Amino acid sequence: MEKLKSWFLEHQRDLPWRENRTPYRIWISEVMLQQTQVAVVIPYFHLWMQKFPTIQALAEAPLEEVIKAWEGLGYYSRARNLHRAAQMVMKDFEGVLPSTAEELDKLPGFGPYTIGAVLSFAFQQRAAAVDGNVVRVLSRFFASDKDCTQRKHYEGLTLSVLSDKEPWVAMEGLIELGAKICQRSPKCSTCPLMEECQAYRQGRTADFPLKKKRPSTIYLERQVAIIRWQDEILVRQEKEGKVMAGLYEFPYALLNENLELDLVLKKLKELPLVKHGFTRYDVTLYPCLYEATEKKILNGYEWKKWNQLVLLPFSSGHRRILKELKDAHFTY
Ligand code: SF4
Repeated sequence: MEKLKSWFLEHQRDLPWRENRTPYRIWISEVMLQQTQVAVVIPYFHLWMQKFPTIQALAEAPLEEVIKAWEGLGYYSRARNLHRAAQMVMKDFEGVLPSTAEELDKLPGFGPYTIGAVLSFAFQQRAAAVDGNVVRVLSRFFASDKDCTQRKHYEGLTLSVLSDKEPWVAMEGLIELGAKICQRSPKCSTCPLMEECQAYRQGRTADFPLKKKRPSTIYLERQVAIIRWQDEILVRQEKEGKVMAGLYEFPYALLNENLELDLVLKKLKELPLVKHGFTRYDVTLYPCLYEATEKKILNGYEWKKWNQLVLLPFSSGHRRILKELKDAHFTY
């Protein structure tokens, strides 16, 4: 990684948080840079440092002012966490940002990346700050068969390439290399790691990082019974802990199973099928309108009048069936 260090020291971008590298400035910049491009962050960073030049100034500022300074950066929980963390630093750490992972971990908004970045760039420790750039570079450099979500694996690889001497330079170099050279379409001919990079040597740079395999789609076919008794319809509210928790649905079962309702039903009409997807399910609903011969109280179900029904929250597939009934003025 000596070549990477030399490359970084020569080519690093001129960024405001790389001047006057105090732990506070590093911390603020790293939080601002999460999910936000460098060019967007720069003016915000300057403004922030004018308004809140120290941890104490940030801790003592009203939250509204902090949120206002963040306006436009998005993900406002980051600003709230910075404010709360600054207050905790004042209270619990005598106004000095702590320099151990254990202590930083107690502060709001400090995840593994931010902890690693602050330890490395601010306190010059041998610490891994693994973001998407680092995963891209190292997955290619090692032709790693671990997908991009394996954070621990990539932290291990990062530490393995950080030398004892000035490890923070190589750490920042990896991030910079991912941002400027080892991009989605890598510019390998200008990369200081080209000779040793396994993906490049194997001609497989496009294969890395491996994407996490998505779980395969499950296809379901369900019969849905719209059961009426006089002007009431039978529905059920899904229990807590289920995918559709809190939402209402008509009774349903798989197409080849019985509905298992203790009711005598007279079939009135089949309705147009409805296709819908949720999480990894792809479901086709076959709705059918029935008349019950009597009104029975069934465990877990409720009878609702039409005017109540339309006010209830329904799952998306069953809401479309309800709309079908509504559009047809329920004339089936
Ligand atoms: S040689 Fe290419 S793929 Fe390998 S680290 Fe450099 S830019 Fe990335």
